[in-house]
Amino acid sequence: MIPLAEARERVLARCERLPAEWTRPAESVGLVVAEAVVATEFVPPFANTAMDGFAVLAADTRGATDERPVTLEVVGTVAAGSDGRVPMRTGQAIRIMTGAPMPPGADAVVMVERCRPHPSGTRVDVCVEVPVGNHVRSPGEDLSPGDVVVEPGTVVRPGHVGVLAGLGLAEVAVFRRPRVAVFSTGDELVEGPGELRPGQIRDSNRHTLVALLHELGCEPVDLGIVPDEETILRQRIHEATTTCDALVTSGGVSMGDFDLVKKVLGQLGDMEWMQVAIRPAKPLAVGTVNGVPVFGLPGNPVSSMVSFELFARPGLRQMMGHADWGRRVVVATVPEGFARSPDGKTHFARVRLDTGPGGVVTASSAGGQGSHQLSAMAAADGLAVVPDGDGIAPGGEVPVIVVGSLTGPLPS
Ligand code: AMP
Ligand code: MG
Repeated sequence: MIPLAEARERVLARCERLPAEWTRPAESVGLVVAEAVVATEFVPPFANTAMDGFAVLAADTRGATDERPVTLEVVGTVAAGSDGRVPMRTGQAIRIMTGAPMPPGADAVVMVERCRPHPSGTRVDVCVEVPVGNHVRSPGEDLSPGDVVVEPGTVVRPGHVGVLAGLGLAEVAVFRRPRVAVFSTGDELVEGPGELRPGQIRDSNRHTLVALLHELGCEPVDLGIVPDEETILRQRIHEATTTCDALVTSGGVSMGDFDLVKKVLGQLGDMEWMQVAIRPAKPLAVGTVNGVPVFGLPGNPVSSMVSFELFARPGLRQMMGHADWGRRVVVATVPEGFARSPDGKTHFARVRLDTGPGGVVTASSAGGQGSHQLSAMAAADGLAVVPDGDGIAPGGEVPVIVVGSLTGPLPS
């Protein structure tokens, strides 16, 4: 058996970053920026008001209070979208709406709540003294030409999409979203509803893997179920590795007589077979076929998912240009402990996580821990990393890889 860290190194050595591509910002969320985005214009582009109110000359409001307001003549209205070219001079005011340009003569805005317009509409009492620039948003207060808006290596989030749109930039250079082929193998597998014949099971792994790839921001290409038959397997691997950026397979990589994935991949490419010192997900095939990384994951449903987490995820993230593997590790208290015995392997227990008062995270078993018991994996928020040995005593602590949600109460 080889240690987890070494297995992961070998996986990462196969996963080269994909080239960058110009992509529409909204389609780039979750992808990694390859080239710095630099502002080419001022945001906001012109001085405008942050409030609904009256554009004035600050000097005209000197000494104004509720009791002794200053009365100004209202000489026009500017709404958002107008060019704002309404002239005014001392003693005058212009009704103005949030986002409207500052009229040329004005240098401050008094919010409408501090003004008392006369019923005629031609005069207004201003009840507060304001400084020059009051509620005025200057051009470039957010961005100016030359500002680096998004650094290379940034993961695009919705806010970035807005910033790019605000600058009129229609495309951003991001590392390409990998197209990842997926198939499951096994003569026992069938698809969808309908009665099962003796010995048959329904294919779950392929669907799990497609979902994991979606979640990761890859484009899954579903190549279906492949029987334990060399010719078909060979043809499907060829198809996958000549049309996609990576291939993820489930099943057929352990020690059984019909574990043909191992054999055929070995004939077609440069593959390594590993027995990793972990449980579940000990067997792993990783390598390159037609220059494309291949992750041969074990068939047991929980093993398949854990193997994806520990190997395919970091590998694919590296291809996507991410600097990390995108999972948080928290230290959790285990009130019940985890019993185990030494076997030379690190165990990954499926746990639920709860955040208590003061932010203390506790972990508890998510259910049956067999590698075929997918329901507990589905219910799990995390994988508790239980080191080789006699387990974790009740009340002890364990690092947990967060794979689901880790939520706490909404701050009040
Ligand atoms: P294998 O890795 O092919 O030896 O399969 C190990 C175990 O996982 C066997 O019990 C298989 O029936 C089961 N298995 C393999 N592939 C799948 C799949 N796609 N969905 C559900 N179970 C599977
Ligand atoms: Mg099989």
